[in-house]
Amino acid sequence: MKKYISLGVNCPHCLESLMDMNYLIHGYPSIKVDIETARAKGRIWLCSIYDCYDHENDIELREVEEVKFYCPHCHQSLMLDKDCSLCKAKMVGFIIKAGGRIDFCSRKGCKNHYVIFENLADEIKNFYNEYGKGE
Ligand SMILES: [Zn+2]
Ligand SMILES: [Zn+2]
Repeated sequence: MKKYISLGVNCPHCLESLMDMNYLIHGYPSIKVDIETARAKGRIWLCSIYDCYDHENDIELREVEEVKFYCPHCHQSLMLDKDCSLCKAKMVGFIIKAGGRIDFCSRKGCKNHYVIFENLADEIKNFYNEYGKGE
C-alpha cells in the first residue's frame, strides 16, 4: 500500500496557515488559496498529499492555462520570479510548516514541482513518527 505524505503549508509573506481543516480532499485538510485567471477571480483547494494533483475550484480553469495564486489572508502574490523548467510558466511557492518549501508550476496540467526540505533528517523522522513503519 502506498504511503501518503500530507504537507502542511504557510504563506511565505504573512506566515499564516493555508490549510483548510474544514475542506478535506482524500481525507486530509486541503490547501486553500485565492486564484485569478484572465477571466475571473476565485478560490482553489489543492490536495495536500505530496504527488497528488487533485484540486477543486469555484471558477472555471481551462487546460494548460496559467493561474495566478494569492494568499487568502494577506492577499500578496504567491508567484515566484522563477519559470517552470518544463513549460516556462511562473512557479508558485509555499513554505512547508515542518521546514523547507515547495514550489510548483502555475499552469493547469503541468506536474512540475520541487520540494526543498531544509532539514531532511528531521523531515524523514517526522514522517516516520506520523505514519509509522511498515504498511
Ligand atoms: Zn499571506
Ligand atoms: Zn510547467
